[in-house]
Amino acid sequence: KKISIAIDGHSSTGKSTVAKQLAKKLNYIYVDTGAMYRAVTYFALQSGCFNDVELNEECLLSKLNSVDIEFRKQANQEQGEVYLNNKNVEEYIRDMQVSSRVSTVAKLPEVRKKLVEIQQKMGENKGIVMDGRDIGTVVFPDAELKIFMTASAKIRAERRYNELKEKEANVSFEEVLANVKERDEIDSNRTHSPLKMADDAIKIDNSNLSPTEQFDQIMKLVEE
Ligand code: C5P
Repeated sequence: KKISIAIDGHSSTGKSTVAKQLAKKLNYIYVDTGAMYRAVTYFALQSGCFNDVELNEECLLSKLNSVDIEFRKQANQEQGEVYLNNKNVEEYIRDMQVSSRVSTVAKLPEVRKKLVEIQQKMGENKGIVMDGRDIGTVVFPDAELKIFMTASAKIRAERRYNELKEKEANVSFEEVLANVKERDEIDSNRTHSPLKMADDAIKIDNSNLSPTEQFDQIMKLVEE
């Protein structure tokens, strides 16, 4: 029987890595909800709704109806890529320009409502692994398996920094660490669906786990 798997947790805990592995193994759909919030943030930047890091909320809200977010998968791809108004924005949404602004956009109830509706539609038929901050609490409160992932901020920043370095991003470790901490702070303290562990979620601190150990641990839970 197909189930829904919700993977929530702090920034850069490797949620998407393990979620992708699970989806592949189980032949489920994988959805990266962070990519959706990032795409809306990219839209806000492109639309001139940011003055440096300051978001003009009215500007974004007035244009929200013309934001279309979807995932599309090419025949040779294992998971979909995020499209904003018919344009593949995957390559623009992971850099610091977006990372340093996304939590401000994700605070807005109107933005969350819009994206949560899309996410719930995608999960209607079960057989889904979704990662984010509010999947077990808001998007799929009835998910059969809920995981909450965490690790020390330093370890998370190191992992993220190494990823960005691979893409030759011009960024310092201190900047990445500050961003990881700042997003946790904003995500955990916002009024509307803050990042928090669902009561029935299983917490995994992966500071000292290899990706394989972590995957095996979660697969065991799936099989239970
Ligand atoms: O998962 P990722 O780190 O790419 O998410 C980027 C940001 O999007 C988070 O820091 C958070 O502000 C927001 N987000 C959210 N709810 C989700 C997924 C992401 O608020 N379900």
